[in-house]
Amino acid sequence: MPTRAAGLSIAGVGRRLDETALLDAPVSRLRYVSGARREALVRMGVRCVHDLLLHVPHRYLDFTRVTTVEGSVVGQDATIFATVDEVTIKRPRPRLTIVELFLVDPTGVLRASFFGQPWLAEQFKVGDLLALSGSVGFSFGFKQMTSPFVEKVEEGRDQASLLRVLPVHPASEGLSANWLRRIMSAALADAGDQVDFLPASLCARHGLMGLGRALRETHFPRSLATARQAHRRLAFDELLCLQLTLRTRQALEQRGVRATRHDVNGPHLRALRAALPFALTPEQETAVADILGDMASGQPMNRLLLGDVGTGKTVVAALALAAARDTRSQAAMMAPTSVLARQYAEKVGPLLDAAGVSWTLITGSTPAAERADAEERVARGETCVVFGTTALISDALTFCRLTLVVIDEQHRFGVNQRVALRRKGAAADLLAMTATPIPRTLALSLYGDLDCSRIATRPRAGAGVTTHGIAPESLDVAWGAVREACDAGRQAYVICPLVDEADDGSELDDVPASQRSAARQVHAATTTARDLARGALRGLSVGLLHGRMDAAQKERAMEEFRSGRIAVLVSTTVVEVGVDVPGATVMVVLDADRFGLATLHQLRGRVGRGETPGVAYLCCAARKGSPARRRLAALEGSSDGFELAELDLRLRHEGEVLGYRQSGGVSLRIADLAGDADLVAAAHEDARVIAAEDPALQDALHAPLALEAHRRFGAYFGEVERAWEG
Ligand code: ADP
Ligand code: MG
Repeated sequence: MPTRAAGLSIAGVGRRLDETALLDAPVSRLRYVSGARREALVRMGVRCVHDLLLHVPHRYLDFTRVTTVEGSVVGQDATIFATVDEVTIKRPRPRLTIVELFLVDPTGVLRASFFGQPWLAEQFKVGDLLALSGSVGFSFGFKQMTSPFVEKVEEGRDQASLLRVLPVHPASEGLSANWLRRIMSAALADAGDQVDFLPASLCARHGLMGLGRALRETHFPRSLATARQAHRRLAFDELLCLQLTLRTRQALEQRGVRATRHDVNGPHLRALRAALPFALTPEQETAVADILGDMASGQPMNRLLLGDVGTGKTVVAALALAAARDTRSQAAMMAPTSVLARQYAEKVGPLLDAAGVSWTLITGSTPAAERADAEERVARGETCVVFGTTALISDALTFCRLTLVVIDEQHRFGVNQRVALRRKGAAADLLAMTATPIPRTLALSLYGDLDCSRIATRPRAGAGVTTHGIAPESLDVAWGAVREACDAGRQAYVICPLVDEADDGSELDDVPASQRSAARQVHAATTTARDLARGALRGLSVGLLHGRMDAAQKERAMEEFRSGRIAVLVSTTVVEVGVDVPGATVMVVLDADRFGLATLHQLRGRVGRGETPGVAYLCCAARKGSPARRRLAALEGSSDGFELAELDLRLRHEGEVLGYRQSGGVSLRIADLAGDADLVAAAHEDARVIAAEDPALQDALHAPLALEAHRRFGAYFGEVERAWEG
């Protein structure tokens, strides 16, 4: 039998290669995919067969645990079969539609409401039998579900509903979960047996399923337990591919480059140290030693400096800038906002002056003539240090010899922006800084290729901040505190989630609905500023700051607040990063449940930085004891940013967290950084080992992995690679 076995396996290999080749084919190659269904897939980012196979269910309906309306328990998840009795559509305000279904089963009535999905009103008819799955609530005398997962049960015709565990894939208008299941089963039939790209040794080490089996068990699991195992395999793949991409990108960028060996013991650096009005803390000293060590070496520096607000990262960076001067080269320091860039100029500028290091500031609002002049001097090498915003990336700015790039609040920038600035020098050293507390797992996934220094304690403790969660009825207490502070010559912030009434909130943190109050009306900065000035805070000077003002307007507002001409600054989260106004002691956050814990922690760090203790009022309409209120209570109880960030991650359970959505960078579709924390660490370590042995992933064992990593993350980094190769 050996020959036959061999023949079979060769045929098998041929088929598997064909199936592998199909992965890159457009989805329209599959049965059932054309026209509107193809377009709906593309809208969800699913273009090729490979994308489709990774479009994994976000939910499974466990029909082994179906209950009735009467049997369901308020506050718990349930799956219920019920018949539609009434469909209504409400429009409580422009741009908000609520589809409300009343459903009956033999034991009672269930109300289900869906926000912002008007098409559902067409989709469900009186008499339809639905399977609904979600958290059961109770209001106005009815058991109810808010935005449950819902499936029409097509009796007899729907094979999938006979499964004991029904997968629910993320669907959209024009493509139901039902159709997705059909399409998925076609895809699995045609390409489910692709060649496994993961070396068998890794599968074995982590006890993971083979790829084909993992795909089948994810999309059509035999039980919830096998679905979980399959998820682990696919999550590991994703994490490993990301880590390998980060690592190989760096290897490509730095192939053969020799970094400048900076002089880290020169006169300007010593002069700057002498000019500091304080001694560095031991942690700051360690960070400086790490950084200067990297800068002195012939390897390019790739370092991330992590430190909560007020831990004194700026001065650490300033010393690195002075080392560039001693090396007769140049440095650039980029901030996400002009407010921050100007703050460097104001705080670091005088120190550099004292040390004899020339500097300039370039932002979008620098007048054209002044800017041309500054650019001219930078190009000639007469100016050593350039502070600025993304204006620094502009082609108009060229350096004579750029050897150090400092990027503050670095997660606010996309990979390409960071690289664009760095490429203005040859093998420039990179120091990235972030004040956003970031859980270890997230740091590893986003910056797997960076070395880390961390500052945990603030040099000047400041008086600190006390946090109170309050209900809207108690806001008078908060306004009283604002007034009292302002009467004593101090200042206050009022933070709103939205800019104005027309703001759709798309820039807000992704706080899951279960973690916030059901209030649909949230505060907008523009109207709140007007209302407060006329009402609760009449007589005080109330200013306004938000992200849609232009740079000059923002700077003016900040300046007036800093100088005390404005007593109360009503703002969106633009004040979040790095802003330092020591006179501000009170902060009121409206609709606080709309913000992530990490954002709230950042925000409250704006007050209590001076000698007077700060107080933060987090106002939220949710009931006492609700998940939203409990989440906010975590802030009353903890002042540790990293602990809160971990908690935030656990509560949100999703790939894009903590405002990292804005990073223009990577998002994870399968892995869950909180739930799969062990896999994050494993993938990070495996990637490190693989890249150390085979940096370009050329080894036959690694080539399929390289291809897979490129398929998944190539788009994010493609530009970078092309830039370095071309
Ligand atoms: P970060 O950028 O990390 O949020 P900053 O660099 O703005 O923090 O520093 C916060 C404040 O602490 C600044 O006013 C700074 O001058 C001050 N500071 C920094 N280091 C020290 C130190 N070692 N001793 C006393 N004050 C310090
Ligand atoms: Mg800072």
